[in-house]
Amino acid sequence: MKARTRPVVEGLFIETETGLRLSGSRCKTCRTPYFPAAAHCHNPGCAGSEMEPAQFGPRGTLWSHTIQNFPPPTPSKYDAPFNPYAVGVVDLTQDGLRVLAQIVADDPRQVRSGAEVELVLAPLYRDEDGVEVVTWKARQL
Ligand SMILES: [Zn+2]
Repeated sequence: MKARTRPVVEGLFIETETGLRLSGSRCKTCRTPYFPAAAHCHNPGCAGSEMEPAQFGPRGTLWSHTIQNFPPPTPSKYDAPFNPYAVGVVDLTQDGLRVLAQIVADDPRQVRSGAEVELVLAPLYRDEDGVEVVTWKARQL
């Protein structure tokens, strides 16, 4: 049977019993986190180059956000008709990095920077075969 959902990009995130995790990497020498995963450390103060897999999230704080009021340009996809949504930067404080995420909200005007959020798996658009394409988004707690 054909899967009815698929990730927007393979290998960027995984679902666990305790929530969604972003799959990245971390430098073994200086512990700098990278998402998506990096092959080498880009920290100019680090001489190390050995990386290890790392997972980030799901809890964080919405550092800043805005409302996307117009459709994203190609190649981004969305389900018509376009509905404005909030998009923001999530501070994954415990992991030491920030990531961009759409914010899950019935009304994007209700989103507040500074809110505690968690990363969740959410639909992005439905493809030409009717398969729901999913990605990570942030939901206010
Ligand atoms: Zn490093």
